[in-house]
Order: sequence, then C-alpha cells, then structure tokens
Amino acid sequence: MRKVKLVIIGSGPAGYTAALYAARANLEPLLYEGFLNGPAGGQLMTTTEVENYPGFPEGITGPELMGLFRKQSERFGTTLLVEDVVSVDFKQRPFKITGRETEVFADAVIISTGARAKRLDIPGTRDGEFWQKGVTACAVCDGAIPIFRNKPLFVIGGGDSAVEEGTFLTKFGSKVYIVHRRDELRASKIMQERAFNNPKVEILWDSEIVRVEGDSLVRSVVIQNIKTKQEQSHEAGGVFFAVGHIPNTAFLEGQIDLHPNGYVRVQPGTCKTSLPFVFAAGDAQDFEYRQAITAAGTGCMAALEAERALSAAGLA
Ligand code: NDP
Repeated sequence: MRKVKLVIIGSGPAGYTAALYAARANLEPLLYEGFLNGPAGGQLMTTTEVENYPGFPEGITGPELMGLFRKQSERFGTTLLVEDVVSVDFKQRPFKITGRETEVFADAVIISTGARAKRLDIPGTRDGEFWQKGVTACAVCDGAIPIFRNKPLFVIGGGDSAVEEGTFLTKFGSKVYIVHRRDELRASKIMQERAFNNPKVEILWDSEIVRVEGDSLVRSVVIQNIKTKQEQSHEAGGVFFAVGHIPNTAFLEGQIDLHPNGYVRVQPGTCKTSLPFVFAAGDAQDFEYRQAITAAGTGCMAALEAERALSAAGLA
C-alpha cells in the first residue's frame, strides 16, 4: 500500500503552486497530472499568448508558462504521476485515491482539477478546423492576439461572460456581435446596460452561428435566425464561446459538498472544503475570477492550510 502525506489532484496553476509550497514544507506531495479533461497543465495549455501573468512583461505562451510551473514544483521534490483519478474515498482517513492504474492513500488532499470552457459543436469550430485559428473559448486570454485586430468578432452566449467578453473585445475588434439564442439576455442588468450603451456592440437576438468558414483563419460565419430560419453570412475575424464552464468535479460527487453548479464549496476566504484535511484550489472551486494568477494564489493557500492541518495533527 502506497501512503503519502499529501495528494494533489490536478496539474494547472493551482495544482503546481500547491505542490511547490507543499514540497518546500517537506510534505513530499504526490501530484496527479490527469489528461481526461485536457493535457497536463490545464486550460493554459490551449491558450497561445499569456500577457496578464505578472512577471512576464513580454508575455509568455501558455504551455511555456505551465512548463515552468511544473519544473519549479519538481525542483523541491514533488512526485508527478501521469494518471487520471477515477474516484476518491473520503469516508475514512487516510483517504483513498484511485487512479486508472494505482491506488494511493493520503492524510490530506488538495483538489485542483480545474474547469473546462464549454464549446458548442458547430461545423468549422472543431479541433483540426478553426479551433484556435480564430475560434476560442476565452476572450480575456486570446482577445489581444493580432488576428482579431480591427475585424468583426462574434461572441456566442447571453450571460455575464458573453457580455463582459464582448465588451472587452471592443478594444480590439472593429465591431463585436453577441449572438444569443433568445430574445433577452441572462446577464445581470448592470452588464446588460454596459452592452447596450457600447456603440461597438450589437446583439443578434434569437440567433445562432451554424457554420464557421475561412482559409487558414476564420473569415466568415453563417448566422441563422432561430425564429425565421433565415441564414446570413457575415465577415468575421473571430468566434468566442461564452456559454459557461464545467468544473472537473464529477468524481467528487457524494464525497464533499459541491455547489449546485458542480463547483467545490469552500469556506469563504479559505480553501477548506466541507471535510477536514480536504482542500480545493483554482477553478474547481472558483466560478468568479477563473484566472491563472488567482488559481495559483489559491493553490498556495491550500498548501499552507494543508500544512497547518497536518502539523496540528502531528502528521506533517
Ligand atoms: P451562464 O451559464 O450564466 O450563461 C451561459 C450563456 O450561454 C447563457 O446565456 C446561455 O443561454 C448560453 N448557452 C448555453 N448553452 C448554449 C447553447 N447550447 N447554445 C447557445 N447558447 C447557449 O455562464 P457565464 O459564464 O456567463 O456565467 C457563469 C457565472 O459567472 C454566472 O453566475 C455569472 O454571473 C458569473 N460571471 C460574473 C461576471 C461578473 O460579474 N463580472 C463575469 C462573468 C461571469 P440562455 O441564456 O438561453 O440559457
């Protein structure tokens, strides 16, 4: 039986930062780098340029940044295990973590499995088509890339993300169209006002994008009015999904408290979950900020909290 002090599940900014702090505190963490929900490194692995991570004034690519995070976590003795966790048993301690191939027991666990942006299956947006060639699911991450400059940009969705990202994109695009499937927005009133008052934003009501077309990059979209079924082609430089996120927490159901939307419930201002010795960091518990820097920050918090809990119990 393999038994460790601390298991960290997930390998994005939160997981690697938690591992760095835990390793430096001699907790000899074991970190699961899963790949079921995307490559190790998390959502930044599918991002191109990261310009808003402090410390990199010239910007850095997502994969490069995560490579550095990984290396730094390893430097102090983190053990990395390339394996997906299938289930956990938090009913008794040490906790049992079951991966596809291994079974490990741990005194404490940090959950940092992140979330994934939802994508719609629209022809032209799939992997190998225009995904990451003008189609993305993160305006804040990708909006400033040169390919979007002075082009008509299309955001799909009607929630706060769609409106916030649409407004943000007006800095770069010639015009931003929010394509929404209904005739009213889900976004909060204040966000709606922001969109309505921005002359560069136009909302296409009762509409959906049915096709994305181009050459090496996106050049146009075909929009269908859901009510009239009428189709129209528009010039386009980019398509941004803003149809929500899904936390990677399915394997936790029945084990700890989750919000109704599936995110891990933590005590406000902490990374403490409903169970002692189980902590959650990064996007798996954050449906508000969702930034690499905030994920890293909570990864640090979770490691410090785990270390304190283990020390107090004489287990560190
Ligand atoms: P939401 O779930 O609130 O909105 C998702 C939007 O995508 C909805 O308008 C929905 O349409 C649309 N959508 C979903 N599925 C499809 C589909 N298959 N086809 C077409 N459209 C679809 O997600 P958000 O990411 O916008 O927000 C998540 C949470 O984060 C919310 O609580 C929000 O308030 C918060 N948030 C707050 C911000 C802020 O305050 N600054 C900024 C960003 C997010 P429909 O409306 O018809 O269901």
